[in-house]
Amino acid sequence: MSGIAQQGSQPAGDLVKIRGLSKWFPLTKGFLEQLHFEGGKLVRKRESVKAINGVDLDVKRGEALCVVGESGCGKSTVARVVMGLLEPTAGSIEYDGQRIDDLSAERLMPYRRRMQMIFQNPYASLNPRLTVKQALEEPMRFHNPGIGNGELKDKVQDVMDSVGVDPSWRERFPHEFSGGQRQRVSIARALMVDPEFIVADEPISALDVSIQAQVLNLMMDAMEQRNLTYMFITHDLSVVEHFGTRVAVMYLGSLCELAPTRTLFETPRHPYTKALISAIPKLNRDRPAHIKLIGEVPTPIDLPSGCFFHNRCVYANDRCRVEKPELHSVDGGCRVACHGVQEGRVD
Ligand code: SF4
Repeated sequence: MSGIAQQGSQPAGDLVKIRGLSKWFPLTKGFLEQLHFEGGKLVRKRESVKAINGVDLDVKRGEALCVVGESGCGKSTVARVVMGLLEPTAGSIEYDGQRIDDLSAERLMPYRRRMQMIFQNPYASLNPRLTVKQALEEPMRFHNPGIGNGELKDKVQDVMDSVGVDPSWRERFPHEFSGGQRQRVSIARALMVDPEFIVADEPISALDVSIQAQVLNLMMDAMEQRNLTYMFITHDLSVVEHFGTRVAVMYLGSLCELAPTRTLFETPRHPYTKALISAIPKLNRDRPAHIKLIGEVPTPIDLPSGCFFHNRCVYANDRCRVEKPELHSVDGGCRVACHGVQEGRVD
């Protein structure tokens, strides 16, 4: 696999702007379970899973922005909110200069064609009752109801050719294919409507290791040929190293670090990023010794005060325990949310 270079032929600038994004999921508990004693008084306390907590993030045209973090860090929730599959609790999302998170379904429709999503599980994302041909035709008919049969047939053929879907698959059903083949069909389906932005949520993590590279290469080729912009969600940093132009690292629903891919791998700044990078198994590579994280990830129901990472960070001090760090710019086009980095305490 080769890395992706920034596309030169596209207008520069941000395609997606995420500001102050939060998504909390209320926990459904009975009235009596919500009652607690606090300061000698009975109070009703509604609890929520705080999946995303004030994320600011831009996706530039032509880039593959990878959003990484451990399971439960909120990265897939960000993907779903950006795609309009979940309503944000707070914050805003702009697409190509237009705020889209508060649009009606009807006004959102043109943006839905321009933004497509590829899901983790190719077994669940294809309708088992549709043949490959029908699955590819469906989004085109939906977004372009006036399309003629001849044009639709040509379009299906074009997309199948471009992503290497064998012509003999046309009349076959999803259950007849392997995971890698199904994900190829899912990618073809996403490309049918000529999107410009694709959100891919762990698109290779359910696939055999032997075919992960094939699917990544397919996505990279599609990016080059079609001037696509990606938001690529993954827990696997070794994938990011080959795929991403920039990387956003998330922890407990907040952004810790945002950096160009090479810079992030060569000089990670945030203590959490340092630990993640040090854990990538590599032969013959100059990596720092594996940094073992202490403690457990706190529950997103009851977030810690100050820096969400402070109970696991060897650099934590009193300020870290009370004041939440904001993202600030450092050299190399990076942004880091860490008091220790800002104060020069973290090397
Ligand atoms: Fe560690 Fe403090 Fe930086 Fe958080 S803000 S990562 S606790 S040094």
